[in-house]
Amino acid sequence: MPDLRDHTTLRLGGPAARWVTATTEAELVEAVLAADASGEPVLVLGGGSNLVVADDGFPGVVVEVATSGVVPDVEDGVSCGGVMVTVAAGESWDALVASAVERGWVGIEALSGIPGAVGATPIQNVGAYGQEVSQTIASVRVWDRRLHGVRTFASADSGFGYRHSRFKADPGRHVVLDVTFQLSQGTLGTSVGYAELARGLGVEVGERAPIADVRETVLGLRARKGMVLDAADHDTWSAGSFFTNPVVDTAAVPEGAPAWEQPDGRVKTSAAWLIEHAGFSKGYGLEQGAPASLSSKHTLALTNRGGATTADLLSLAREIRDGVEAAYGIGLVNEPVLVGCQL
Ligand SMILES: Cc1cc2nc3c(=O)[nH]c(=O)nc-3n(C[C@H](O)[C@H](O)[C@H](O)COP(=O)(O)OP(=O)(O)OC[C@H]3O[C@@H](n4cnc5c(N)ncnc54)[C@H](O)[C@@H]3O)c2cc1C
Repeated sequence: MPDLRDHTTLRLGGPAARWVTATTEAELVEAVLAADASGEPVLVLGGGSNLVVADDGFPGVVVEVATSGVVPDVEDGVSCGGVMVTVAAGESWDALVASAVERGWVGIEALSGIPGAVGATPIQNVGAYGQEVSQTIASVRVWDRRLHGVRTFASADSGFGYRHSRFKADPGRHVVLDVTFQLSQGTLGTSVGYAELARGLGVEVGERAPIADVRETVLGLRARKGMVLDAADHDTWSAGSFFTNPVVDTAAVPEGAPAWEQPDGRVKTSAAWLIEHAGFSKGYGLEQGAPASLSSKHTLALTNRGGATTADLLSLAREIRDGVEAAYGIGLVNEPVLVGCQL
């Protein structure tokens, strides 16, 4: 039986009781329906890049989403209304971004280099370098495990927020079948909303740059932070950022920490700043030869140095969470989904 260790970017986990690889939508729905009918636990798996699975593995069926298909509503040429493209859940996210950039589809170029499958992107509303998928998602088509039917949610009904959606709020209920993106067409990307990216591109925040340059610059920035998968580099044996940036009252932000205003009047501060200033710098744990350590390139990535267990990783995560809480009274929340384990 396949082991989840071989299917997660952290390379952690254990065996699954049963495994189904669904290459068509019918197989995907059938696998979930059959398991639900018999009361068998289900884990829907994309690229395994946002999962922390217990060392014991998963006592049910892992349904690996391997569906394919990228269907634009206009083939070649430019349409003034842009392009609506419907993408099967199992398609690789970064392959989609690469192809969008090549075809002159604008709106997801800053999301280059994020691992995983398209079907997982609405779950936590993936975002980076000033873009979030919610800005270009038109609709999400799902299998609703509670109502036993296919439903389509418009973007406005998907409850998107910072690393959040209605799908994340109701874990496991919705199996994403495909996602429809509304992209404009052209050679210039959307206006650059992130200072570090603007610097890398040699433009001001708010200006635009060619989509191909945005992709290349983002990939370069990410690679320097160990945020592009590389099997030979243990700094990338992670689930990306382990903690979300906390949203707190202005008064709770420590002096000197970044504070980005939020629509609800509160502010978002930087988890990386809090971790660093609470005494955990890049590479924390490496000198002691710990099996799980902070990445030597990024404070927010917890990494497996090769021989770690999930228990090792979670104990590091607890140490960091508790250290930040003790120093600043702010509780960090994990971004990856924990399966069969908890912080
Ligand atoms: C090096 C690295 C860098 C990263 N950088 C970023 C980043 O910049 N921004 C960001 O937002 N994230 C980032 N991530 C996190 C991760 O890549 C994203 O969250 C990604 O969308 C997860 O996709 P996946 O297919 O691997 O999902 P998985 O890890 O397989 O699953 C994650 C969750 O989604 C559920 N799921 C997966 N597919 C479906 C489906 N079809 N229907 C319903 N539920 C489903 C799973 O059950 C699970 O709960 C990074 C991760 C790594 C390892």
